Amino acid sequence: MRKSHSVVLLAGLLACSAFGAAGDGAQAVGVPERFDNQRVVRVTPRSIADVNLLEQISGDRWTCGPGGANGEADYRIKASDLPLLNQAGVPYQIMIDNVQALIDAEQAEMNDPFRDRAFFDAYQNYTAVSDYVNTLAASYPTFVTRISLGNSLQGREIFGFRLTSPVPPIGGSPRKPVVFFNSLQHAREWIGVMVDMYIATQFLSQYQTNSTIKSLLDTYEFVFVPISNPDGYNITWTTSRLWRKNARVISGTVRGIDLNRNWSVGWGLNSGSSGTSTSDTYRGPSAFSEPETQALRNYALSVPKLVAAIDFHSYSQLVLRPWTYQYVLPQGIAGFDRIGNSMVNAIAASTGASYEYGGPDILYLASGTAPDWFYGTTGAVALTIELRDTGQNGFVLPVSQIIPSGNDGLAGAMALVTGLCRSDLNRDNIVDDSDFALFAASYDTFATNSADFTGDALTDDYDFMIFADAYEQFSCP
Ligand SMILES: [Zn+2]
Repeated sequence: MRKSHSVVLLAGLLACSAFGAAGDGAQAVGVPERFDNQRVVRVTPRSIADVNLLEQISGDRWTCGPGGANGEADYRIKASDLPLLNQAGVPYQIMIDNVQALIDAEQAEMNDPFRDRAFFDAYQNYTAVSDYVNTLAASYPTFVTRISLGNSLQGREIFGFRLTSPVPPIGGSPRKPVVFFNSLQHAREWIGVMVDMYIATQFLSQYQTNSTIKSLLDTYEFVFVPISNPDGYNITWTTSRLWRKNARVISGTVRGIDLNRNWSVGWGLNSGSSGTSTSDTYRGPSAFSEPETQALRNYALSVPKLVAAIDFHSYSQLVLRPWTYQYVLPQGIAGFDRIGNSMVNAIAASTGASYEYGGPDILYLASGTAPDWFYGTTGAVALTIELRDTGQNGFVLPVSQIIPSGNDGLAGAMALVTGLCRSDLNRDNIVDDSDFALFAASYDTFATNSADFTGDALTDDYDFMIFADAYEQFSCP
């Protein structure tokens, strides 16, 4: 089913990454920007000429490669520019007939005074999410601790929370191994915020009744950062629903930097980002030039034992492994494949939604991303989840999809963490004598490394007990 490499490159180099120089990269100020008579079309570019045409007439590429490596790309264009595609003979399919109509429907739904105003019945702005975190911390004081990771460019707090059960860490460790779930590096991808909060809410409400969730919260600490890009989120709630980047001012205008192209691993490489400030994938002048990425990085580096991370995005229904910046397979690919496939299967079993697992060949090259940094720097099993849908509504996903999307995320997250298999030290998907040899070498020297499962900075008998469980079964529990 995979496209030939040359076609993948055409999509990756041209349709996706280099795109944007002709875009409307500046933020509208004052009244909310409108998108009347604008459509989203799915195109399969046949040539550089097709890509150039799309660059000229579209201000905004929404995604490319959804549902498989077929070189497809979704572009927002004015209806009045459709004849240009027809004249050039570019094949396309209309995915969204009127973007503004979707936004209007979203607003009407959220403003309906007769609607039950439960948290997950509508999208929630920055203040409402912050208040909800405080409510969780007040309702579950022994489980939830609010944290602050730093401030955005415009001074908004990048808040989050730690969530674990009161069961203490094994062996006197200062802190359980940490799993990191963040969302909304890209401001318009609202569903990520809700999914992050939904997972936390389900962890708390089901701890007493769901033995898997109890086991997860007794073993790990989860850190949630629902709004990684607070300034961009504010823009999408006030002036431009389809804003993606942060609020960096460039040449006197808010143009923004793509935070998920601003991390250091792979930064600027392989055409997976843009050096043009008007582009929606502008990487910034240097890696970690932005306070938002700095804050997330600094917190992650302060964690003694980080074992897994998910960066939530939308849309396309994908589970993406490293590397996102190159086609080279990561070390431990067998483990990624096992976990990624289990996540996709768990989501399908939970909600019936069809997600696809893979690497950059199923989406496009993206350089300087959070998951590549998490994996490359900390060794955590780091993945991107592209949430619903597959293009029918794109970023403007109806509120009726919030809870189903939350259940996608919950099933995927649980499959990831239950499948971590930390005892498989050489990552060949079996816990055997070669892992025992690695464990023994660490145990003999009390080393601090991947065999220190408990995170107490040495490999000791507590770690051996965890390892022995898996070793006896030739697999992870
Ligand atoms: Zn995104």
